[in-house]
Amino acid sequence: MSAKTVRVGRDLLADQRAAAERFRAAMTERGTLVVRLLSSPGAGKTSLLEATIKHFAGQRRIGVLVGDVQTQRDAARLRPLCKTVQITTGGACHLELPLVEAALAKLKLRDPEFLFIEDVGNLVCPASFDLGEHWRVVLLSTTEGDDKPGKYPKAFRTADVLVIAKVDLLGVVPFSLKRALADARRINRQQEVFRVSALSGAGVADWCSALDNRRQQLRL
Ligand code: MG
Ligand code: ZN
Repeated sequence: MSAKTVRVGRDLLADQRAAAERFRAAMTERGTLVVRLLSSPGAGKTSLLEATIKHFAGQRRIGVLVGDVQTQRDAARLRPLCKTVQITTGGACHLELPLVEAALAKLKLRDPEFLFIEDVGNLVCPASFDLGEHWRVVLLSTTEGDDKPGKYPKAFRTADVLVIAKVDLLGVVPFSLKRALADARRINRQQEVFRVSALSGAGVADWCSALDNRRQQLRL
């Protein structure tokens, strides 16, 4: 009985992985770079998206799917800037691919150049789910501990990119950039790192040109 249970569990995981691969391939075909943002609550995912969309200023077709446990608040912030669909999980602490696919169908944006998926603020279980993203981005803000990478290694290990957010507060808050980067490096040596302040605009142009570069690679 227990052997059977284990086998079913494995099949489910394999099915989920295959579905994520299909989604990623379909988005590649459409020329859409899927960028997923992970972080703890309040690290600045929505603020980074606002700054990103403002930087591109109508020059890119951008869609956003934003996940929260409750409320339409993040979508209300983003909707004046670009097509946005709020996903409310009604209690669940992470997004899953079927929710993303249903939200994308509601987005009504033909072949966006960028599709951003803002996951529920949570550094733990979202890291275990593949939502078919091309680029997984983890945010660590200076208002959090610089010891977070070591404490939540999976989120940092599985992310392609690390964004240090709220860098305008460096020197004001007790956050050591050196310690944070050393901790992150120990977990993931390949990771690209960006230092950004959505508030001051520092680093936003570099981040946005990296998005463009990554999207160009879809065609290779
Ligand atoms: Mg948010
Ligand atoms: Zn969860």
